[in-house]
Amino acid sequence: MQLKFKGLVAISIITLIALIGIQGYLIYNTYELKKKTYTIDARNAIAKVYNTKELDSIMWLYRTDFLENLVAYEKGNLEGEDLLLKLREKTQEINPEFLKLFNDGLSKDNYNLKIKKVLTSITLTDSLGNKNEIYSTDETNDTIILLGENFAPSDGLLINNSTWQDDQTPIKLNFQSSIYMNISDWSNIMLKELSGLLILSSLLFLFVVSLLYYSIQNLMKQKRLAEIKTDFINNITHELKTPLSTLALATKTLTSEHANGNKEIADGAVKIIERQNTRLQKLIDQVLQSSLGYKQIQLSKEDFNGSVFLNEMLDDYMLSIVSPDITLNRNIESTGLPIHADKFYLSTAIINLLNNAIKYGGTKLTVDYGVDKLDSTHYISVKDNGIGISPKYQKFIFEKFYRVSEKDTHNYKGLGLGLYYTKQIINAHGGNISVKSEANKGSVFTIKIPIS
Ligand code: ATP
Ligand code: MG
Repeated sequence: MQLKFKGLVAISIITLIALIGIQGYLIYNTYELKKKTYTIDARNAIAKVYNTKELDSIMWLYRTDFLENLVAYEKGNLEGEDLLLKLREKTQEINPEFLKLFNDGLSKDNYNLKIKKVLTSITLTDSLGNKNEIYSTDETNDTIILLGENFAPSDGLLINNSTWQDDQTPIKLNFQSSIYMNISDWSNIMLKELSGLLILSSLLFLFVVSLLYYSIQNLMKQKRLAEIKTDFINNITHELKTPLSTLALATKTLTSEHANGNKEIADGAVKIIERQNTRLQKLIDQVLQSSLGYKQIQLSKEDFNGSVFLNEMLDDYMLSIVSPDITLNRNIESTGLPIHADKFYLSTAIINLLNNAIKYGGTKLTVDYGVDKLDSTHYISVKDNGIGISPKYQKFIFEKFYRVSEKDTHNYKGLGLGLYYTKQIINAHGGNISVKSEANKGSVFTIKIPIS
């Protein structure tokens, strides 16, 4: 059962992890897909703006200028370096106009895009077919940005390579450039687009986790309840067996010929029957009482002197203890403050604690009574030097039918009702009960009743 349960929990957790993995993968795929669509859209938007007449005419401004300078270069009136310098100057001059037109064109589509057109190479070929490469990005780090805004190469995405050829001059011109785009807050845009999906899947995930947590907890509760019930049935049959067999024995004695006319034997048997009857009655009362929650307990409260009440009660209790090994120590203060409680129920609660103290191995008992000014309560504590309770069980002992199920505690008979009932009584008084205990050392149970 234990193994099956653990297996079930393990499988649920593994399934959950697998689900998270699949969900993560799906979200990642959606992200990639969105990115792709977004890039395509961005490219189209750029193409739409880029291919307008206005922008084209701006580009022709630097081209015509460059062609004029190229003639000067061919004639030997201009150095190669100056040719490039002039190109740079011209493009810088027309760039603001280009940017304005470009951004105005884009804003309608609401794209947060940047582009740059970068010169990649300029090659000249003379009539004999000799090639002269006067500029190439491969050979220089000094990139020439023809148009657009600069951004780091790692942020850019190549969208187009273009070649401009001109055969009008005696030397053929091959002018190559590349266009890069950059979406400045790419990750923010993606996040915004995916936020609905992310929130929904997080919520779903949380929901599934809480559902799983709730189910496991419920399962554990059911399991413990089932165990407690079986224990209770075992315990009560065990408790009933002894008086019943003694009763059977006593009746047999009474009816036997041997007892006929023998008054002594008959009296003895009747006494046994009486005792067992009381015992059975007590057992049934205990079970019946335990069905009462603290709300159903009808208290008839009165004011009484705590120290007098406790001393009398403990005197009576000690009279009923046959074993000479058991000693009782009292630290009972005369508080001057009356306890407002139901005497009958309060003594039942204290007697339950004393009975437990003796039942679970206590020989030296100590009862303390006083007033706790800090939380304005009367405290009554019962201390023993018995077998104690391990911390892991302490939180359960006040539950109905709960009994500590360690090997060596199986020898003690009981129904697991005493502390439950005690707690109900104290709760009905508006107080509380707590335990401090250490295995093999002993326990202290403390009852607190508010000063009214
Ligand atoms: P009964 O219904 O006859 O009182 P019980 O004594 O087993 O049966 P509770 O009095 O409710 O039931 O106690 C619950 C459990 O707490 C006990 O089974 C026992 O294991 C543990 N316990 C209670 N008091 C002590 C104590 N003084 N020392 C050690 N263990 C204790
Ligand atoms: Mg008990």
